[in-house]
Amino acid sequence: MLKLREEAIKEVAHRKYQLFERKESRISDFYAENVFGDAEMRSHLSVELYERLVRCIDRGERIDYDIAEAVATALKSWAMTRGVTHYTHWFHPLRGTTAEKHDAFFEIRNGQPMEHFKGSSLIQQEPDASSFPHGGIRSTFEARGYTAWDASSPAFIYEIANAKTLCIPTVFVSFTGAALDNKAPLLKSIAAIDKAATEVCQYFDKEVQKVTVSLGAEQEYFLVDRSLFMARPDLVMCGRTLFGHSPSRGQQLSDHYFGSIPRRVTNFMVEFETEALRLGIPVRTRHNEVAPGQFEVAPQFEELNLGTDHNVLLMDIMERVAEKHDFRVLFHEKPFKGINGSGKHNNWSLITQDGRNLLSPTSKAKENLQFLTFLVCTVKAVHDYADLLRASTASAGNDLRLGGHEAPPAIISVFLGAQLSSVLDELDKNANVKVGKGDNVYLKLGISKIPEIILDNTDRNRTSPFAFTGNKFEFRAVGSTANPAIPMTVLNTAVADVLCQFKLLLDKELEKETKKEVAIINVLRRFIKQSKNILFERDNYSHDWVEEAQKRGLTNLQTTPEALAAYRSQESKALFERQAVFTPVELEARTHLLMDEYVMKVQIESRVIGDLSLNHIIPTAIKYQNMLLENYNGLTQLKLDTKYVHGLIKDISEHIAQIQQMVEDMTEERKRANAIESETTRAEAYCHKVRPYFEKIRYHVDKLELLVDNDDWPLPKYRELLFYK
Ligand code: ADP
Ligand code: MG
Repeated sequence: MLKLREEAIKEVAHRKYQLFERKESRISDFYAENVFGDAEMRSHLSVELYERLVRCIDRGERIDYDIAEAVATALKSWAMTRGVTHYTHWFHPLRGTTAEKHDAFFEIRNGQPMEHFKGSSLIQQEPDASSFPHGGIRSTFEARGYTAWDASSPAFIYEIANAKTLCIPTVFVSFTGAALDNKAPLLKSIAAIDKAATEVCQYFDKEVQKVTVSLGAEQEYFLVDRSLFMARPDLVMCGRTLFGHSPSRGQQLSDHYFGSIPRRVTNFMVEFETEALRLGIPVRTRHNEVAPGQFEVAPQFEELNLGTDHNVLLMDIMERVAEKHDFRVLFHEKPFKGINGSGKHNNWSLITQDGRNLLSPTSKAKENLQFLTFLVCTVKAVHDYADLLRASTASAGNDLRLGGHEAPPAIISVFLGAQLSSVLDELDKNANVKVGKGDNVYLKLGISKIPEIILDNTDRNRTSPFAFTGNKFEFRAVGSTANPAIPMTVLNTAVADVLCQFKLLLDKELEKETKKEVAIINVLRRFIKQSKNILFERDNYSHDWVEEAQKRGLTNLQTTPEALAAYRSQESKALFERQAVFTPVELEARTHLLMDEYVMKVQIESRVIGDLSLNHIIPTAIKYQNMLLENYNGLTQLKLDTKYVHGLIKDISEHIAQIQQMVEDMTEERKRANAIESETTRAEAYCHKVRPYFEKIRYHVDKLELLVDNDDWPLPKYRELLFYK
């Protein structure tokens, strides 16, 4: 029989690779060359049409037919000069990362072949939607779906092998308007927070007309050689290892973080970055991560909708380019036991139309009151909707990461840093301040100079799931496979809602209190009192925190079924309806899909564990055991000491028996779970009845890995997966 592991190791040892060479040396010479961006629009459209289009985009209005027709014509000629033959409406379905259906520009008209692309095909398309998951929406409404152009994210050319396709970013909705994708609600949440934040800004600065959200998504991932990957059915089927004993050397030395990036890996990085940069994805940072074989890529932050499209596209590019380099990218949150998992830190802030970051403290007291307002409202949003934010990060993969080695726990808390915490403390404790005529209000309120040093001096707390890092919040609980649209939609909605509350309370306060600043402080003080128990400055990884959080009444929702329940509360439904982000039907559809996805993921893992145990592990162990038995008989004949061999045979027998029994029991539990009608109860059964077997079976398999002859072991070992590059 072909020994996959042996073959794979040989292949890795003899890997040759071609150095990727780029003809351009300066990035600015080719950056965004595959994007139909602002400059292209300008040069291809008349001034009048261009201005109307920009207005529509800025206000999120419907694009008129004549504009669409002009853009379509321009897009077609721009794309065709670049060798593009097909176009597609590119969207984020509810499951998986992106989807597309390619149509050719080419068609036969009146017997003549020609290339054609009309405005209506730009604006709207009806994909064969039946195969996309919808969580029951389409059957409820008996409606089909269509995709509609999201003009705020520019079209781009995606090159796969020798096919060049014009991709038009779109939303995917049913004919009744219910969202069938992740982009539509994201755009609604962006509109909600724009409206609420702009209104709040008006108290400070009448010039503010628009507030946008920014996202800088730091993406962590592992790289594994392709041949080793192929020899691990668990990686192929589940994206993570289900078995594997820790290598003698893991990440104890912490030398990987600062270490130099292996040459073959750098080569891969340069190529995928180049492709990303051509698509206008501003990737800037590359480095090793803490675990061996783990890396990170981060772009410069961008407007949230675009940043989200770019993150999803980037993951796709990485997977494809990795193949060329005989690597496989693992985006899974916890591909290896015992070493760090991967997250996707979502750096988030709010920025006005003229580029002022509302979460950036300045030296001007007046601006700082505005800064404090947005800071406190965000803290309150996290406090009030902590469970929803937790739900927004929930997945079977992330369950293994949250609360694990060097990952934030499932308890949501906010880290502000010592400086800011003391400012908030001060505000909290100060009883109503009397401000007389001519008094310097800011001085009296103790906020005359929120130290500018905060910016240079932000303490870093890498253990927090939601940390303020100088001029932005960093949502770290998000898992590495997640579409950022999901957590960002929840965060935007929650903050928008608190900003609305702020405005309401402030208006009431202003009826009593004439000094605006004092009125604002009064509302903020109330908010701080209500939400300060979400603030936590110390080590989130510690056991003490789990206990303390419990005393504080903070929830610790450790599993996906528990966490997802938050989407179903009356409070959540009301929130999303108030902010016009999800209807209850849409919300229910999503929750249903996520529960279902959880069940499927755990079910697949459970089956793979069963198959691998019975087809790979046990037969290998028995073969080795037979060899030992021969050895034992020989020793006995010669009347030599058999103690060691006897012990080995006994240990192996016991592990085999345990594995066999537990696989059987697990299969029974799975059958019972599958018979459960209610989807939530089924998810819970998979979580609490099926999943616990994983670790128990693994324990024995990993023991066998240590006992059985290395030459016979079928699965590439951790040391090979992690260190062979
Ligand atoms: P780290 O958190 O690893 O120290 P950085 O501080 O360099 O990394 O920033 C991480 C990410 O945060 C980058 O993608 C960066 O562009 C982004 N970022 C910086 N400022 C903002 C902002 N105002 N809004 C959103 N993201 C931002
Ligand atoms: Mg970071």
